Amino acid sequence: MPPESSASVHILGAGPAGLAAAYTLTKKQQKVTIIERDRRVGGLAKSINYQGFILDYGPHRFFTKLKPVLELWHEVLGSEQVTIDRLTRIYYREKYFRYPIRSREVMISLGMAETLRILWSYLQTKLFPNDNPQNFAEWVTAKFGQRLFEIFFEGYTEKLWGIKCSEISTEWASQRIRGLSLSGAIRKALLGSGGGAKNMIDQFQFPRLGSGQLYDRIEANLRDHDQTVMLGAEVVKLHHNGVKVTYIVTRDRESGIETEYECDRIISSIPITILLQQMEPPPPPRVIEAARSLIFRNTILVYLFIDQLDLFPDNWLYINDPAVLVGRVTNFANWSPEMLPTNANQTPICCEYWCNFNDPIWQESEASLIDRATQELRQIKLIQNDQLNNQLNNQVTDGFVMRLPRTYPVYTGNYKEALATIQNYLDRFANLQLIGRYGAFKYNNQDHSLLMGILAAENVINPNKHNLWSVNSDSEYQEAANET
Ligand SMILES: Cc1cc2nc3c(=O)[nH]c(=O)nc-3n(C[C@H](O)[C@H](O)[C@H](O)COP(=O)(O)OP(=O)(O)OC[C@H]3O[C@@H](n4cnc5c(N)ncnc54)[C@H](O)[C@@H]3O)c2cc1C
Repeated sequence: MPPESSASVHILGAGPAGLAAAYTLTKKQQKVTIIERDRRVGGLAKSINYQGFILDYGPHRFFTKLKPVLELWHEVLGSEQVTIDRLTRIYYREKYFRYPIRSREVMISLGMAETLRILWSYLQTKLFPNDNPQNFAEWVTAKFGQRLFEIFFEGYTEKLWGIKCSEISTEWASQRIRGLSLSGAIRKALLGSGGGAKNMIDQFQFPRLGSGQLYDRIEANLRDHDQTVMLGAEVVKLHHNGVKVTYIVTRDRESGIETEYECDRIISSIPITILLQQMEPPPPPRVIEAARSLIFRNTILVYLFIDQLDLFPDNWLYINDPAVLVGRVTNFANWSPEMLPTNANQTPICCEYWCNFNDPIWQESEASLIDRATQELRQIKLIQNDQLNNQLNNQVTDGFVMRLPRTYPVYTGNYKEALATIQNYLDRFANLQLIGRYGAFKYNNQDHSLLMGILAAENVINPNKHNLWSVNSDSEYQEAANET
């Protein structure tokens, strides 16, 4: 491929954001070098292979209204897509409720007294509206009433973020559950929904071989175009002269050998907090302080294989009940059929736990986590006592654990001011762009990370075309759902 510019663009991290940047630049005949610390591409959206099963990191439903992202998706996957029927429910007080919420079901399942409590608390929000909610709890209560907030939002949200809903920024709520309307839902419950075709919430497109297939195919495309994809190589230093990053240092994770690369332009999707620690000379103390104040939440994934087919019909379940620590359970048997080996007689599921580095569960042994997940699934009656392989508690061959550090940027405290301080400092480096969930401290789903990558690539070709910091917060958001 004849490079438009002889100097390669260095892309740090081969998750959705970094790969979208590399893919877009490749289409523009621009040479790129992508540097990834893991042995596989795809970041948090990769798929893993385990004894013939293809497993994702929890549920990785793909949904977008963003045109450039949809184009990339179709271009890369082509006919490698399947349509998945969606069923997602919330577990609360030993009952399962469909998500998005259906009022008629709520009324029947919770009974008349609870329904009246819900309607009364909703009415109060209409009589005494809170036009200026200050946090997540107030935002949801203002929209749905106190009772629905407690039943359907509070437990799950507090498990996910590890802080009270009153400490979570309204920004998260407005991004994630915009558009749900209780009055609309009540109208539907009383008058009926009117039927109609399945909408995009009922079905979704998905890669035939798991969410990571999209990213494996981008990697193959890059290699076909003779682009450099370095795996198992961690960026450990970014040297700069005050206005430009001049060279980076990578360390091979196997051999420990360090290598220096001169840099012309850099697109980084590695955690923003780590990037700042790696800068040489270091940033001023106020910037370091701001970076220290940003919090990411970790995820533990406990995969279990259960000796029963048709365990439950959902793609995934939200576990709102505070009696158990598990927050979400994914059933991979209800995704693409080709993610299971032929004649599979086990159901692969994934239990998600969220925590901070200093929480005891982060250090818990694999056996203990498998045991915990097993007991909790029994407690919420997803599995019966005799359904688990008898050996599971002692042998990890039927279950395994993945610990993912820094998976959720936490929108709390003074994070906006801290980010502004960091952005102000980083904006002076004309050849450095930050993208992605880690990289820009944005609560992105795949589509917004892909979009940031595409826009960063366009900025390389046409400098300053897009302000990357405004992606997501300024973008139209898509679905009435509080996912991921
Ligand atoms: C449990 C879970 C469920 C999710 N469910 C969904 C869903 O249903 N739908 C959806 O759209 N999204 C979902 N997401 C979010 C989705 O995974 C992310 O939005 C997406 O992966 C972000 O892409 P990214 O490229 O910004 O970051 P990442 O995927 O985190 O990629 C960053 C990459 O940088 C690499 N890296 C880090 N440090 C270095 C270094 N020093 N040197 C070199 N490389 C480095 C990492 O190894 C990684 O590969 C989910 C996420 C999680 C954790």
